[in-house]
Amino acid sequence: MSRNFKKVIAIDGPAGSGKSTVAERLADELSTLYIDTGAMYRAVTFKALNENIDFDDKKSIEKLVDDIDISLEKTEQGLKVLLNGNDVTKKLRSSKVNKNISRIAKNKIVRKKMVQMQRQFGAKGAIVEGRDIGTVVFKKAYKKFYLDAHLDERIKRRLKQAKSKGRRVDEKTIKEEVINRDRSDRSRKIGPLRISPDSIYIDTTNLSIDEVVNKILNFIKNE
Ligand code: C5P
Repeated sequence: MSRNFKKVIAIDGPAGSGKSTVAERLADELSTLYIDTGAMYRAVTFKALNENIDFDDKKSIEKLVDDIDISLEKTEQGLKVLLNGNDVTKKLRSSKVNKNISRIAKNKIVRKKMVQMQRQFGAKGAIVEGRDIGTVVFKKAYKKFYLDAHLDERIKRRLKQAKSKGRRVDEKTIKEEVINRDRSDRSRKIGPLRISPDSIYIDTTNLSIDEVVNKILNFIKNE
């Protein structure tokens, strides 16, 4: 398999479809960057909540994105998210961030800035994962994949992930979070979650991580 992959591979899909784990593994296989764009929206939301920003005030949001500096660092323990130099990785998956992220993710000013940063980060090739990567951020990506899974399976995965990170949550809360986030991701005016017509659709419900990674690698190899 090729090394130091220099092109962009876009991976989109709803919460719990397996995007992050698969994208991180692919980046390792191809020796390229992994860009978790969800983590970037989470970092903006965390900052807004931390600073008690009025989400509906244009000037406050402008200041928020002007002041923001996000970097993603690969570590042995997974991707590290630095927000203005501080490691916030462990703070990005709280219920509070999950509940408020949709309000930040639908904001035009925020999306403009995030898309700009993501294009810069991925300029030399990367596995970029999110909701609008193949449709907006990297429309000309070398390959686009849309990962999906049945709702029950996605809830099960998110519950397992939350528990492994020490969050004390129940299935009902996770179910509500996933359903609400999906709904608002699909219905927002800018950068909604859509299946790009030129993407390869993979239903991951009954597939292991290895199986999904191998499927994608085969599409790349057999080009
Ligand atoms: O992928 P993850 O679940 O961490 O994403 C968190 C949220 O960030 C999504 O539900 C969505 O609202 C937002 N997001 C987005 N555009 C992206 C990636 C994530 O709006 N490209």
